[in-house]
Amino acid sequence: MLLERKRLAVALALVVASLAPARADESIGPDRFDTVVIDAGHGGDDAGARGAAGLVEKELVLDVAFRLAKRLAENGLQVVMTRHDDSFVPLEQRTSIANDARADLFISIHGNATHDAKVRGIETFFLALSASDEHAGQVARRENQAFRLEGTPARRSDDALVAIIGDLIASEHMEESNEFARLAQAKLAGDPEVARGVKQAPFVVLEGVQMPAALVEIGFLTNRLDEKKLQRSEERDRIAAALTRAALEFGQRYDARRGVGSR
Ligand SMILES: [Zn+2]
Repeated sequence: MLLERKRLAVALALVVASLAPARADESIGPDRFDTVVIDAGHGGDDAGARGAAGLVEKELVLDVAFRLAKRLAENGLQVVMTRHDDSFVPLEQRTSIANDARADLFISIHGNATHDAKVRGIETFFLALSASDEHAGQVARRENQAFRLEGTPARRSDDALVAIIGDLIASEHMEESNEFARLAQAKLAGDPEVARGVKQAPFVVLEGVQMPAALVEIGFLTNRLDEKKLQRSEERDRIAAALTRAALEFGQRYDARRGVGSR
């Protein structure tokens, strides 16, 4: 009983913290869109997907993350990266890094994989408890595999109460997460042939992130054409530039909604 009460107190504190104007600069005006977290998927023992020609997801996405970070910084944004090198960072630690930074947007970058070598293109995701289709569910299961490597005995969200609270917090940002996922899809997949759309799935790394958040699959390592493209520096720059445009446009809308003038 005491434990239950303790849990309730923790959960309520979480809600209050997420709803209250928590920023120190809140007194001088509404929150401005100024901080973006870039999450390069995988790392260390968790290599992620591998292409037939040798492209490794953890290396690809870290390189794209650095290119994106550089461009966002050039546009005056503060950037926080969940990893800077080939190290294993647990999924829940990535969430904590983002929340501690009180960022305004969380972008997780991944490379896709499927058993059908013909499938190629761009997919963007935002969090949902159930996948929007079978393929989206498969993508989430694959990207969540790192969770098992972490050796966590029980997921924090197995605590039903905290899970419900977490869902409340997540749904608060669901519309904006959807908005960024759509912007990213539109900017990234200029060619309709590679636009596979915005989907929803239960990604562990997006759970509990207290800000708009999306996961971007920048191409299929299991497709020969996509892999070849993703090996090229020009394509990685194109992806970074497209995600930068999406973030900046999202930021303008974000500020406009909060009554903040343009930067
Ligand atoms: Zn991945």
